[in-house]
Amino acid sequence: MKKESKEGISRKTFLKQVGLGFGALGTGIFFPGSLSAASFLSGSTNNPKNVVVVGAGLAGLAAARELKANGHQVTILEARNRPGGRVSTLREPFPDGIYAEEGAAAYSDSYTEALKLINEFKFEKIPWAMPEEGIVYHLNGKRIVSKKGEAIDWPYELSAKEKGKDPFALVQMYIIDTLPKETGMPDLWDKAPVVNFDKTSLADYLRKQGASEGAIKLLQNTMWFAAVPEGTSGLSMAMSDFGFFMGGMPFILKGGNDLLPKEMAKQMKGELHYGVEVKTVEDLEEKVVISAVENGKNTTYEADEVIVTLPLKVLKNVTFKPALSAAKSKAIEGMPVLNSTRVFIEVDKPFWREEGVTGLVFSDLPLMNVNAYHNAKDPENGAAMLESYVVGERAEELGEMGEQEAIEQQLQEMKKVYPEVQEHFTEGYVKAWSEDPYALGGPSWPGPGDVTAYLKDLQSPHGKIHFAGEHTSILRSTMEGALRSGIRAAQEVQES
Ligand SMILES: Cc1cc2nc3c(=O)[nH]c(=O)nc-3n(C[C@H](O)[C@H](O)[C@H](O)COP(=O)(O)OP(=O)(O)OC[C@H]3O[C@@H](n4cnc5c(N)ncnc54)[C@H](O)[C@@H]3O)c2cc1C
Repeated sequence: MKKESKEGISRKTFLKQVGLGFGALGTGIFFPGSLSAASFLSGSTNNPKNVVVVGAGLAGLAAARELKANGHQVTILEARNRPGGRVSTLREPFPDGIYAEEGAAAYSDSYTEALKLINEFKFEKIPWAMPEEGIVYHLNGKRIVSKKGEAIDWPYELSAKEKGKDPFALVQMYIIDTLPKETGMPDLWDKAPVVNFDKTSLADYLRKQGASEGAIKLLQNTMWFAAVPEGTSGLSMAMSDFGFFMGGMPFILKGGNDLLPKEMAKQMKGELHYGVEVKTVEDLEEKVVISAVENGKNTTYEADEVIVTLPLKVLKNVTFKPALSAAKSKAIEGMPVLNSTRVFIEVDKPFWREEGVTGLVFSDLPLMNVNAYHNAKDPENGAAMLESYVVGERAEELGEMGEQEAIEQQLQEMKKVYPEVQEHFTEGYVKAWSEDPYALGGPSWPGPGDVTAYLKDLQSPHGKIHFAGEHTSILRSTMEGALRSGIRAAQEVQES
């Protein structure tokens, strides 16, 4: 019997609609009613504190907003000259009004905290749906174009029950249908049965459900969440990818995803200091002293309490006094990040449309996944962009080479999929998160065992110093996780 979602569409249709390389699923549908919201501080404080928040990404902005709303005095210190951190929309280098995301690509309708803000600010959401046809695959040396209603003969050795199925059907069979309902309850991450998945890699989880090696390869090359199947904790995959991100339709904000942090920052204009790179945070018990370099000059700030929202690998470059506990230092050192690099290939027009394809590519080439942007003011005749999205070791390699070399390499790779790209190519641009001094990597990405080994230590306060950021959330590598972590840290400060 066909199972109906609350929107009245079949699971399979839903999967296809929300797929677009985001995987596909949805606990909003698969585990209805279980997506608990983060709890906000209640009422104004009668013990106002002077709080410094380090970092104006979503975690820092959410923490500062909560504290301010509840009567605390807040100062935000941000090293860059813009808010949003890893939510960053590129507009400047591109012609014809094109914009593209160099960081977070999509929100999800299951993001309760993000949605509250998006609704409050009245931003327009553009659903990001999986095209029904015209996806180009380049797998095992074979170029394949998907056609509506036609099953693809995948160039992998698949078992009898896998043959003829698309990657969404495999995800349904091996993941969605097998995960327990607790997957949609982030607060239960450290309880059985979900916590038991932590020591199991995504690849082993799939094997245990009966997936063949060919099916695992197919998912690795077509589903973003499965890009490093041996290096992904089954628990974080279950909670963050399936319990949350894919709990609803993915969408982008019209005008760019950074509109959200920008608006939050606008509302904190008086409290936000740009160009302040924090170097040392010292807890002197009666106060906390923050030493920083502000526009080239040494400076200090003082606070009753501090919330540090720096990305995982940046934390290693900040001095904490007294020194962080051995367990916390080990967690910062040990928790992996998934490096990610986006190489943007600007072209004079969306030439791929002549072939009747969408521009979207999934491949096992060093090119990896390609997203197409044709959001020029005149989308038919204006410039367009193909973006090669690369994660893992290849992302680091691209980051370490010169920008022109990286563009040239990915352009050559792109020619294997779109031979005519060279004649349309105008400019290239590279964003390697591992080379960004204020990120030093992509989002946190726990491997097998890492959530249970490190998450609680990453979250725990150190005297009057509190910690937030996506890496302190079970909803790792999401904007929602970052927002919730900021709210959690604000609560800690209020209650301490
Ligand atoms: C390539 C990529 C794709 C992604 N895709 C998605 C997606 O599709 N959907 C989704 O939900 N999430 C996605 N994410 C994850 C999402 O972007 C993050 O989870 C979220 O933005 C992290 O917010 P944060 O506040 O924890 O960290 P950040 O945004 O990194 O904020 C930390 C802030 O600290 C500042 N800082 C750093 N060092 C210092 C210093 N010494 N002193 C002062 N300030 C400093 C930084 O400049 C930054 O502004 C993606 C991330 C990347 C990198």
